[in-house]
Amino acid sequence: MTKGCAVVTGASRGIGAAIALELSSLGFDIIVNYNGSESKARTVLDEIKSRGGNGDIFKCDVSNRSEVDEMIGFALKKYGRISVLVNNAGVSQIKLFTDITQDDWRKMVSVNLDGVFNCCQSVLPSMIHEKSGRIINISSVWGVYGASCEVHYSAVKAGVIGMTKALAREVGPSGITVNAIAPGCIMTDMLREDCDDKTIRMLVEESPVGRLGTPQDVAKAAAFLASDNADFITGQVLGVDGGFS
Ligand code: NAP
Repeated sequence: MTKGCAVVTGASRGIGAAIALELSSLGFDIIVNYNGSESKARTVLDEIKSRGGNGDIFKCDVSNRSEVDEMIGFALKKYGRISVLVNNAGVSQIKLFTDITQDDWRKMVSVNLDGVFNCCQSVLPSMIHEKSGRIINISSVWGVYGASCEVHYSAVKAGVIGMTKALAREVGPSGITVNAIAPGCIMTDMLREDCDDKTIRMLVEESPVGRLGTPQDVAKAAAFLASDNADFITGQVLGVDGGFS
C-alpha cells in the first residue's frame, strides 16, 4: 500500500529530481513533471523504478493552466488521491533591473508564481475533499533577502512565500499544510548557468559550512515536510542554505 501520489513539478533535473527520488523512497507514487527535458525525466523515473518505487512522467508547462489541470486530472484518475504537491519548477535570470524587459518579467512571473498558483488551485479541491494534503513550495533565499541583478526573481520568490503563509491559514482547517523551502546556493544547472567559477568560489567562501548545497540537501528537507513528523508545521519558510542567510 503506497502513501498516495506526490506530484513534483520540474522533476526532470536538479532539486526536483532529487525530491522525486527522496519522496519515492518514503513510499509515494511520483508524478515526475517536466517541460522540455523528456529523456531526463525518463531517467529519473527509471531510477525511481530501479529502487522499487513507482510513478509516471508527465509533460506540462506549469504556467499553462489547462496543461496543469490535465496533469492533476491524470494523477487523480490513476492514483486516487494526491497526498503531496511540490511546486519546484522554476527559471532564473541574471540581469540589471534597468535591462529587464516586459517579456523577461512576464516569463519570470508566469513560471515561478503563476505556476505555483495554477498547481495549488488545481490540486486543492481534491485535498480539501480528502481533508489532508501537503503542499511544499520551493522559494529561495533571495525571496527572503533579495538579490542584486535578480530583482524579478527575488520578487516572485517573495511572492511564493506570501502565498505559502496565506494559503496555510486558509486550508489549515481542511487538514492541509503549506510550507516553503528557501534554498541557498545549490549546485544544479541553474546555478551553473547563473554563476561563473569565480562567483561560485566566492559563494563557497561566504558559506558558513564551507560548501554549496546539493539537491539532496533540499530533498531531505522536503521529505521531512511531507512526513508525519511535520504534522504540526504549516506556513513556515525553512532555510536550507548552510547558514548563508
Ligand atoms: P534547474 O536545474 O534549472 O531545473 C529546473 C527545473 O524546472 C527543470 O526540471 C525544468 O524542467 C523545470 N521547469 C522550468 N520551467 C518549467 C515550466 N514552465 N514547466 C514545468 N517545468 C519547468 O533548477 P534547480 O536549481 O533545480 O531549481 C529548482 C527550484 O529551486 C527552482 O524553483 C529554483 O528557483 C529554486 N532554487 C534553486 C536554487 C539553486 O541554487 N539551484 C536556489 C534557490 C532556489 P525541463 O528541463 O523539463 O524544462
